[in-house]
Amino acid sequence: MDIICAYFDTQGFSVDGTFLPREICLLNDSATINLMVDQIYSKPTDKEKIQIEYLTNKFHGLELVPKASVKEDYAKTLIKLFYEFSRDGRKYYMACKSKESENYLTELHIPVLNILQVYGATHKTINRDQKPCTFHNRDDNYLKCSLNIVQDMKIFIDNMDIGRIEHD
Ligand SMILES: [Zn+2]
Repeated sequence: MDIICAYFDTQGFSVDGTFLPREICLLNDSATINLMVDQIYSKPTDKEKIQIEYLTNKFHGLELVPKASVKEDYAKTLIKLFYEFSRDGRKYYMACKSKESENYLTELHIPVLNILQVYGATHKTINRDQKPCTFHNRDDNYLKCSLNIVQDMKIFIDNMDIGRIEHD
């Protein structure tokens, strides 16, 4: 895809209407960065605790309080630098496939292409059923892992390009 320079995904928690990223992953043609992020947040209410438990146990297997992590400000600086090193002429979009990821990049003023909306890249269509990375509390294949997702998105887009070349 000649307009995408890099791929981005984040998995985390929505607490009190705010998205708290935990896993953040970046991928371009030559590098991958996968981080666990922590930041200050208010104590969750009982209702939010139920949502948090659901996400940890059934969705992504990440803990609200990570064992080892970087501060979110550092992660944001790294995302911006990664973008600057990745962009090249007309290739200036960072691709993602979730609303949380899209909002996160938009807040950092990074041009974003949501390939779920534009190309219908749903989890089901791009997922290659891999085990999650070591950030997750177990290795069940169904858990959402940002590292798997950026790799799956790149393969999905690269295959679209092959399809296009074959039809030319
Ligand atoms: Zn992961």
